[in-house]
This record gives sequence, structure tokens and C-alpha cells, in this order.
Amino acid sequence: MKSFPGLERLVPDYIKTFEAYIPSKPDDELKKLYGCSRLYRLNNNENPLGPPRTARRALEAFDSAGASVYPSGDCYHLRHKLADIFGMAPDQFLVGNGANEVIAFAIKAFCRHGDNIITADKTFAVYEWVAQFSGFEARLVPLVDYGFDAEGMLEKIDERSRIVFVCNPNNPTGSWWDARTLCSFLDRVDGRCVVVVDEAYREFVEDPDFPDSMSLIASYPNLVVFRTFSKMYGLAGLRIGYLAGSSEVVDIIRRTCVVYSVNTMAQVGAFWALDDREHVARTRESVRAGKRFLLKELDLMGLDFVHGEGNFVMTRLPMSDSLAYRKLMTHGVMVRAMTGFRFPNWIRISVSHLEALESFAAALAKILGERKRF
Ligand SMILES: *Cc1c(COP(=O)(O)O)cnc(C)c1O
Repeated sequence: MKSFPGLERLVPDYIKTFEAYIPSKPDDELKKLYGCSRLYRLNNNENPLGPPRTARRALEAFDSAGASVYPSGDCYHLRHKLADIFGMAPDQFLVGNGANEVIAFAIKAFCRHGDNIITADKTFAVYEWVAQFSGFEARLVPLVDYGFDAEGMLEKIDERSRIVFVCNPNNPTGSWWDARTLCSFLDRVDGRCVVVVDEAYREFVEDPDFPDSMSLIASYPNLVVFRTFSKMYGLAGLRIGYLAGSSEVVDIIRRTCVVYSVNTMAQVGAFWALDDREHVARTRESVRAGKRFLLKELDLMGLDFVHGEGNFVMTRLPMSDSLAYRKLMTHGVMVRAMTGFRFPNWIRISVSHLEALESFAAALAKILGERKRF
């Protein structure tokens, strides 16, 4: 291939220094690579129960002839349904190709050269990544007791701060702000910047002290809420998530979104997923049972762990997380190695069904046992 001598000059410094995310290989390739006959993916906090029945039925009934027609460019029916559910207006919602895409929309809408965003050092990394590869500063405030530090983040806000991202509950620690903490934070931010609460795991939370962020939007017009259909609703493969905010703020963010990024199947799946009330209850029950089992097993192995709300648990290993990852893969179990989240030697395990968690526990016990013999 011919080289491109002029390339260097074209690339901004913040792209030169940015490392691309490396996604995992497909299952068939991984099974060959690690010599395992089946693979449990416990790395992405997916719902092992799959999508709700209502969504499955609608997806199966989808007429493939419709694939030749562009989707609704503004997810019309889905936004109207969300508006009904939350008692808000349809123009307070903006749907994207996963919550990941709405993160990019929000950053593009508010940040210009020299601006910054604020978030935690150990949280969902996409806020930081999008800011950095767009040339904006990401100010990372250390977690306190595995939770977001309201005080620390307030100290970092200056006149160039545009957005504060709070992951609630936090991926990967499961810690969360209750309604009082969130409201007092919003009071003290006092409209100086946009406050995003990323509620990707909101539907897993049962505690009544968890903020009803959708209704807080009426009193805090700078509050933006992110939700996704990837976790509780089991539609990660279709890529659909959304944000909600005041009409004023959403009207600004909407200007940055590329029309037609949300495909028709995703819109159909999400629309019908919201109808299945049983699905949420069944998933919560499955996560509760899975967590009970997992925590007991980790405890028996004498490991430290951290968990809160959400369908994931973190544990600290007496060995490198990437070595543990590779060894677990040979047993057909994929977890998330946490060095990338700034938790070296920790792994995060998605709370899947019991069969997968039993395989994980057996494999981990074996790996730790092998270590002790040396
Ligand atoms: C999974 C996850 C998302 C991304 O969701 P998509 O809709 O699949 O893009 C966003 N935020 C957090 C904290 C997540 O864990």
C-alpha cells in the first residue's frame, strides 16, 4: 500500500495521542482462539433474559420489505410513547443510536475549543473519550468511597465547564446518589452548566430514595437524563437509547444529531419493549438471585468485592486482571478486565443467569487454586 506523507499534518494532536478502543472478537473467533466450546459473555452487563416478549413478538412480525424505507427520522412514535409514560412532552426526548450516541450529541452541542466537561475518574469512559477525541478537556474527579464526589466536582466547575456527567448508578461500582444528594448538587451548580445523569441502570433500582430524575427536569432546566434500551430491555444489539431534558435544552442538542441514525427495527423493538411490565420484575428477580449467589461465592474465595445497584459486581483479584481474563476465557467465561477503568487487578462480572455464574465461580476458584500451589 502506498504511504501518505501528508497525513501527519492533517491530524489534530488530540487524535494523534488518542488510542482507539479495541472491541472483543466475535464468539466463533474467540472460541477458536481460547479453545472453549461455549462462551458466557459476562463483560457487557447485558440482560440474559433477552428482550421483553412484547418486543420479540413485534420484531418477529416485522415485514422485511419495510427495510427499504428510511426510518422515522425523529423516532416519532417512540417519543410520543415516552412522553405519555413520563407525563412530559414529546419534544423533551431525543433518541439516538444507543445512549453512546446521545453522549456525543450533548458534547457537540455545548463544547467549543477551550471548554471542559467534568466527571469521575472511575466511571463509564465514553464521556471522557468523546471529550478527548473532540479536543475538549475532561476533568476527572476521584471517586470517594467508590461513589461520585459532589463536593470535588463542584470545585472543578469554572466558567469554561459545559457539562457535568454523573453516572447514576455508577458503572462499574454500583454506587448512586439519592434524591437529596442530586437535588442539593443541582442547587449548588445553580444553572452554571448542564448536568447529565446517565441512568443506564435505572430500571434495576428498587430503592424509593433513588431520584425521580424525569420529574426533576421541570424544576431544573439544566438537567439532562440518559436512558438506554441496551440493559434492562435487552436490545443492546439494535442500538437505541435516548435523552430527556427541558424542551429548551433538547432543542439545542437536537441540532447536532444526524438524522436516521436510529434504525426501524430498533424503534419497533423499543416501542413495544416498554409495554412488558412483567419483564422488569422478572429481570430484577433474576439479578437478585444471581447477585446473592455471586457474592456468596466471592466471599468463600476470600475476595474483596464492590457492588450496589445495577446488574454487575466488581471484585479484586490477587493477580493481574488481564491474566485472569485470559485464563477465564479458556474456561469459556468472558469478564471485563478493569485496568482500563483505572481499577488494576479488578474484574467486573455481569450478573447473568445462574448457570453462567456457576461456570464463572468454578473457573475462578480453579484459577486461584492453581496460583496457591506455586
Ligand atoms: C451500557 C451503558 C451505556 C451505553 O448504552 P448504549 O445505549 O448501549 O449505547 C451508557 N452508559 C452507561 C453507564 C452504560 O453502562
